Amino acid sequence: MTDTQVVITGGGIGGIGAALMLGRRGISVTVLERDPELTEGGFGLQLGPNITRMLKREGVFDEIAPLMVFPKRLAFRNATTGAFLNYLDCDDFERRYGSRYAVMHRNDLLQALARGARATGNVTIINSAKVTEFADHGDHVSVRTDAGAEVTGQVLLAADGIHSLVRRTWHGDAVVPTGYVAYRGTLPEDRLTGEFDFNDLTLWMGPGLHFIQYGLRDGHELNQVAVFRSPAYERGEEDWGGVDELSERFQGLFPPVEEGVKGLSMVRGWPMVDREPLETYVRGRVALLGDAAHATLQYLAQGAGQSLLDGSSLATNLAALGDGPWSDDEVARAFAAYDAERVPQASRVQATSRFWGEMWHVDTVGAVMLRDHLFATIDRYDYKLYDWLYGPALEEGGAGGASLDALETATVG
Ligand SMILES: Cc1cc2nc3c(=O)[nH]c(=O)nc-3n(C[C@H](O)[C@H](O)[C@H](O)COP(=O)(O)OP(=O)(O)OC[C@H]3O[C@@H](n4cnc5c(N)ncnc54)[C@H](O)[C@@H]3O)c2cc1C
Repeated sequence: MTDTQVVITGGGIGGIGAALMLGRRGISVTVLERDPELTEGGFGLQLGPNITRMLKREGVFDEIAPLMVFPKRLAFRNATTGAFLNYLDCDDFERRYGSRYAVMHRNDLLQALARGARATGNVTIINSAKVTEFADHGDHVSVRTDAGAEVTGQVLLAADGIHSLVRRTWHGDAVVPTGYVAYRGTLPEDRLTGEFDFNDLTLWMGPGLHFIQYGLRDGHELNQVAVFRSPAYERGEEDWGGVDELSERFQGLFPPVEEGVKGLSMVRGWPMVDREPLETYVRGRVALLGDAAHATLQYLAQGAGQSLLDGSSLATNLAALGDGPWSDDEVARAFAAYDAERVPQASRVQATSRFWGEMWHVDTVGAVMLRDHLFATIDRYDYKLYDWLYGPALEEGGAGGASLDALETATVG
């Protein structure tokens, strides 16, 4: 049996990020991860300026920055005609938001967070430890693993992903399917064909699909993601979203898109699902974080970043309680602050991601014309569509964390 201040289930980016930020504040943490190793798929990840700014505030940015690539432009293009519609100026993000837009390899991020967590001397990471039970005993929490080990602590943070045990137990809600599926892949530079501007992160938008390309690891790799609506899903078939559909859906598009898709890994696709927003992430001495709390469609590229924001908020609010042992009232105070800081903003990311996807994927002639006109004519230095997301958050004295009631007007700026 192990005793610790904070027990975290799940050693993904959310769980390990939270462990790092807690450990840096002198809080003892035990992370239980079901897989034998800490590892993330071999793909890229985008981190908006809201996330890189928070990493600076947490004092961990300088360690991770050498592993990042900082695109100069977020470019928007029509996947059918190839038309270049517009771009966002990432250099200007530094001025506006005090930090850059970054992309990096997922596993590079996870390993850097894990190194940082271990270096604090306060974090223990246990692999091959699938948590099968958890309990809130009022004055402490406990979890049990499939190997029969028991870990106790003062609070439990459930960072066990979209199929979280705690979320299932509390809410039992199903994931929300969309009928879209993603294929991903990275190509080393010696396998690149055609031209690609590594200064850009390019989003190609097409009917019921999109394709994203950006460079990783100093431009030595190209990361690509193709997402499409499955015709088989729409027909109600059980087997849907296969590679045959991928090839079919991207056939005849602008040549760099059609060609690019051939460089994806065909081993598996990821069905695009999210969850409905929750009103609270906490109950007693247990809190949800990351995808367990607010799984989102990836169209704003914020899921992992939002999980890191959760960790930062929890670490700040738990550290404010002092050394402990933390009373029920103190935990309630810290968790209430966490809810107040995180629920509105993460819920808004969930809702806006859905809307953003719908806008990219329009498929009627009129709607495509309108979308392209909107993208082409929008003033790239008018930030009202992005301030709520990339701007300073509530805890930094900014406008982040608008209420759910404000969502409707907020999503359309
Ligand atoms: C195609 C695609 C592209 C994306 N692009 C981006 C992007 O550009 N930027 C971005 O910020 N986000 C992006 N995301 C979202 C991002 O990947 C997720 O939001 C993020 O990985 C969630 O992290 P997490 O730690 O909460 O959950 P997870 O990464 O799912 O980690 C959960 C961990 O818990 C472990 N676990 C589960 N159950 C148990 C148990 N019972 N006991 C112990 N351990 C357990 C799992 O093994 C896993 O390691 C993307 C997602 C997809 C699908």
